[in-house]
Amino acid sequence: MKSFHKMSKLYAPTLKEDPADAELASHRLMLRAGMIRKGAAGLYSYLPLAWRSLLKIENIIREEMDEIDAQEMLVPILTDEDLWKQSGRWNAYGPELMRMHDRHEHVYALGPTHEESFTDLVRNELRSYKQLPVTLYQIQDKFRDERRPRFGLMRGREFIMKDGYSFSADQESLQECYDQEKEAYAKICDRIGLRALQVVADSGQIGGDTSVEFMALAESGEAELVYCDDCGWAADVEAATAGVSLQSSGAGELEHIYTPQIFTIEDLADQLNVPTSATVKALALVSEESNKVVCFIPGDHELNDCKAEKFFGEYHLMTEEELAEAGLVRGFMGPVNLPEGIEVYADTTLKDIEFWTVGANEVDYHFLHAQQKRDFTISNWVDLISAKAGDSCPHCGAPLKSARGIEVGQVFQLGTKYSEAMGATFMDINGREKPLVMGCYGIGVSRTLAAVIEQYHDANGIFWPVSVAPYEVEIVPLDVNDEIVWPVATQIAAELSELGIEVLVDDRKERPGVKFADADLIGMPYQVICGKKAIASGTVEIKNRATGERSEVAISELAQMLAKKIKEQRA
Ligand code: ATP
Ligand code: MG
Repeated sequence: MKSFHKMSKLYAPTLKEDPADAELASHRLMLRAGMIRKGAAGLYSYLPLAWRSLLKIENIIREEMDEIDAQEMLVPILTDEDLWKQSGRWNAYGPELMRMHDRHEHVYALGPTHEESFTDLVRNELRSYKQLPVTLYQIQDKFRDERRPRFGLMRGREFIMKDGYSFSADQESLQECYDQEKEAYAKICDRIGLRALQVVADSGQIGGDTSVEFMALAESGEAELVYCDDCGWAADVEAATAGVSLQSSGAGELEHIYTPQIFTIEDLADQLNVPTSATVKALALVSEESNKVVCFIPGDHELNDCKAEKFFGEYHLMTEEELAEAGLVRGFMGPVNLPEGIEVYADTTLKDIEFWTVGANEVDYHFLHAQQKRDFTISNWVDLISAKAGDSCPHCGAPLKSARGIEVGQVFQLGTKYSEAMGATFMDINGREKPLVMGCYGIGVSRTLAAVIEQYHDANGIFWPVSVAPYEVEIVPLDVNDEIVWPVATQIAAELSELGIEVLVDDRKERPGVKFADADLIGMPYQVICGKKAIASGTVEIKNRATGERSEVAISELAQMLAKKIKEQRA
């Protein structure tokens, strides 16, 4: 194998300026560092630097899959229309499925995921319980005609995915396969250096999870999450039902109070000198079935669209006209003296609050101490609000934190959905024919690369974790024509390579400033800076790209010392 690589031979066309249409750091930096180039919307070429990182991510996945006896293989990207019709997904998948036909007018889809292909593969040959369980996986390009391909590798139309499928004889065995994959996925994130949360996407009947998403924490993530640092519980705010601690504004007689110039909950809380959590917010909406509804939620929380749609279908908030027609007053709605013909819903967290501070259904007036049962009753208690930071963890009660996340992987218990639809059966121990019990497990390899950069970048560029860095060390000889500097730089490069370290040498005849800027941009974990003066005194400088820390090291000790440090971080 070649000992080290030279920058002059590397195809990594860097850009000095930020590309105009790249919003996300990962997209911008991958373009600038010459790692990716766009072919068309959502289609990217991976250039050598990106490819080296991707292979490292793939190999970490391979090693962890090997640990749990999952076997790598490959099925065709083109999938026969018939298979999709058998599973019922030909229509269900919709326009995201990229379809095409061959010269004989036979129709295919470019696989967006391969449950059908793998189920088809095993259905005639995995026949006995004695052969089970089996887990197969592949790492392959996937195709999805996303409505909005964007953010570079984050949401492509062609992207690299590791997808795996397990086949078991029963639920207990599926649970084992699923738990093993879940653990392997956590290790993979860990080894790659991704800080990721396991978010329960679906709960089973007995309370355990049947699907978990791995969410890499990043400000730019699409998902809004709440999580608990104490016990590790995490959820999408859309799905979470967290504990909400509300304050009571105190007991007393129903009091009709004059509250002019109140436009928001904050105004009201200010004027009454109570926290917003001691107030009740009212929202008037029209349900899909044209029912007029008023919802009450804690003053410091927001109505959650997804949850609301469960009860009200495609609803909309009342317009001024609809409010007037219903006899409601914006900003002053409350459960006492509501006009006729209004359905009343309230968030379940308000159930334990006996006295409410609410609007009086009258311009410029509120009620203090409106008491449940005495002054009003709520007919429908439902879960309506988005969880937020500070709410309490439903598992352990500790205060939740909020974050945003990028979905990098998902594990799923499929059960017999595909095996039943496609007739994939086996003989159980009693000679009875049964459908295989399946699980599926996916990691977005190319999206993971983008997620790593979202977590590992600063104003100057990328700082790779060692485990997935394209090279581990970049050697920066400040003057390649110098007869002392160049031999020392290549000697160090050769020594490090000899010790198994991946080295890139910037052999270009560029000014030091250009080299430093590029080294910071492409972000190898360690830079070894070889300058004439330092070498004359027997040293070179090491810069840790992540921390910016610099140290002078004797040339004679450098290779051993740096190699040791890097190997410790390889994971
Ligand atoms: P999303 O909700 O982001 O569209 P998904 O839930 O549809 O993703 P899965 O079917 O669970 O995706 O696919 C497994 C993994 O493949 C995802 O966790 C993600 O990392 C990756 N992935 C999915 N769609 C894309 C895409 N368009 N571009 C890049 N990676 C993707
Ligand atoms: Mg998913």
